Amino acid sequence: MRGTVLYGTKDIRFEEVPESKIESPTDAIIRMAATCVCGSDLWPYRGLQPLNGATPMGHEYCGFVEEVGSAVTSVKPGQFVVGSFATSDNTCPHCQFGYQSSCVQREFMTRAQAPYLRVPLADGTLVATSDTPSDDLVPSLLAASDVLGTGWFAADAANVKLGATVVVVGDGAVGLHGVLSAKQMGAERIIAMSRHETRQKLAREFGATDIVTERGDEGVARIKELTNGIGADSVLECVGTPESMQQAIRSTRPGGFVSYVGVPHGVELDGQQLFFSHVHLHGGPAPVRRYLPKLIDLILKGSIQPGKVFDLELPLEKVAEGYAAMDERRAIKALLRP
Ligand SMILES: [Zn+2]
Repeated sequence: MRGTVLYGTKDIRFEEVPESKIESPTDAIIRMAATCVCGSDLWPYRGLQPLNGATPMGHEYCGFVEEVGSAVTSVKPGQFVVGSFATSDNTCPHCQFGYQSSCVQREFMTRAQAPYLRVPLADGTLVATSDTPSDDLVPSLLAASDVLGTGWFAADAANVKLGATVVVVGDGAVGLHGVLSAKQMGAERIIAMSRHETRQKLAREFGATDIVTERGDEGVARIKELTNGIGADSVLECVGTPESMQQAIRSTRPGGFVSYVGVPHGVELDGQQLFFSHVHLHGGPAPVRRYLPKLIDLILKGSIQPGKVFDLELPLEKVAEGYAAMDERRAIKALLRP
């Protein structure tokens, strides 16, 4: 089969790769309904994260179970399933506490930008839908696999409650889903920090009540102005840069919550600043598996349409164009169909 491999800065190829096959009795093979390019894929694509040789890419996936290993009991061939970027047994202590992305058996998925994918720990990692979903729901179910699950964790970890004032730093797919999630959790005011018109529009559609285009000191001042000088109850940091982390901590009221779900690149925190900020900090790789059953249910009921974040759809073999479009910010997120 052919799959997606990153060779170096902006050198992404769709080429012959080994077939996906069962390697362990707990594996499943899924036939991809759709996959996509992640914002986090852009770090190595842009050369901002070192590569360890040619790297197979992709960690967002949903599709049909093609084959299962002899020990798999909870999913069977023909079922439609959604998984997450981290595998989990869903039984170890960390999984039981709801932190499946820290599972003792965790592996980070890769190779999903391909027509077939081997998923380890299939019983604990995959969630099947009750029926085969209609084709128009596939983008939303795919979003649940990572960006929606991560946005949901961002809102949850930032303690978004009914009536809360929320700030979302970052207008990528995760940030936009942070807005959607905060809305679902009953936030009254959702301030999206965004400078891009198409993203501002989608943020509003997902539930943002205010848009702030300023950044740095001006961004902080604007948030203070919008919150009567107090700061926000919950701030979702969905980027992972030193600037976005500062923006988040400084926009939060004393006693408020900052979540951080953007993979940190160069973020360092000053102990004194943190001490006097009085904020709660909670983040990390999102335990998407914890939320998958609920998110799938919301999607199938039509309560949320996270698939709107895909504003470019390409055949899988045009994956390089998907990376380029996202890199150049011509697209928010690219969906790929085999
Ligand atoms: Zn576990």
